[in-house]
Amino acid sequence: MNPDTLSSSSQTESVTASIYDQVVMKNYARAAVTLVRGEGSHVWDDRGQKYLDFTSGIAVTALGHGHPHWVKAVQRQAGELVHVSNLFRNPLQAELARRLTEKTGPGRVLFCNSGAEANEALLKLARLHGMRKAGEEGRCTGVICAEEAFHGRTFGGMSATPQEKIQHGFRPLLDGFSFGRLNDLESFKRLIDSNTAAIFLETIQGESGIRLCDPEFLVGIRRLCDEHDLLLILDEVQCGIGRTGHFFAFEASGISPDAIGMAKGLGGGFPIGAVWAGEKAADLFTPGSHGTTFGGTPLACAAALAVLDILDSDGFLQRVRENGAYLLERLNDLGRAHPDQVVEVRGSGYMIGIQLKGDPGPVLNALREAGLLVLSAGGQVVRLLPPLVADRAELDEAVAILDRVLV
Ligand code: PLP
Repeated sequence: MNPDTLSSSSQTESVTASIYDQVVMKNYARAAVTLVRGEGSHVWDDRGQKYLDFTSGIAVTALGHGHPHWVKAVQRQAGELVHVSNLFRNPLQAELARRLTEKTGPGRVLFCNSGAEANEALLKLARLHGMRKAGEEGRCTGVICAEEAFHGRTFGGMSATPQEKIQHGFRPLLDGFSFGRLNDLESFKRLIDSNTAAIFLETIQGESGIRLCDPEFLVGIRRLCDEHDLLLILDEVQCGIGRTGHFFAFEASGISPDAIGMAKGLGGGFPIGAVWAGEKAADLFTPGSHGTTFGGTPLACAAALAVLDILDSDGFLQRVRENGAYLLERLNDLGRAHPDQVVEVRGSGYMIGIQLKGDPGPVLNALREAGLLVLSAGGQVVRLLPPLVADRAELDEAVAILDRVLV
């Protein structure tokens, strides 16, 4: 076969909707759109239709599509060294871990490939912390999570996600999980017993409809964890990596967790996940207790380092905070202009939910027809996750489309 004939456009054109529907598993209710190209905050479908992409591939393409610094870093690393396994050191892992610990404080980083994998590693750290507390013969495996949490699709992640639509068909799950009400400290306090090893929370619940932990709630949770020697673990897979205009969403509350899960935006589109653990949990994994073939390849780390370069550049996160506040204000105005449809607008930075009175599905379809891609989330929410590089003109364009569609 002549490789010249295998251009990406001819490949994608041949992936028609009908072939897709025949051979790709049906675990998603996919939109009837085939996306083939992206640039900045925009993507194009196979018919040439242009869309403003306020999904960012579910909070992944933090720098938008085809950011020149990111593309150059990935291309350069692809020609240098792509994969070596975790049986050897690679210098990019060291550099990425160093730069992450500059943001978190002292500790260690473990690399993996996705949010669910980061969370599995975190749940294993909770078990090891429990064993250290109670001894080999003791039983200290309990993890307290939040009602309506979402932590991924693995067995650990599903066990921490008390939603029928996620768990149905997959039980029995892991035991030891219990669930408090978000922002109700007493409900968490009541669940703590001698079996409890950790409290595990999303700082901002994404899939459940952009529900924010109040700063005072997080301060109270930190205090409970200190009093009972529990690990405070934060899942920042969706809300971390600059999404709120802080590198981590918890920074706004002033607390420090014991461990953090991250993924999604970290690689800017290249799969990479990571766990940071502070002094309470950094040395719990010992050789052989956890591993991954792919986690933290030189190529994935190069992509992540390019993301950090941009996020760390002068004024970048401040701009996300300011533009995010502007977007929230404009969407609140929009909500007031459409009181028959909008219940509430809430969020932080470039992570915003518009809670509707009805099903967001038809609104999402109409927005797509009008050239704006957004997501739905639980609780009848339209979720906006613009790329962090989206400028005010693009935010204004999205608000104008929403205004037209919500009539
Ligand atoms: N945790 C949170 C908060 C998420 O939003 C997600 C995915 O949406 C996950 C974990 C799972 O991440 P992944 O899909 O990369 O496995």
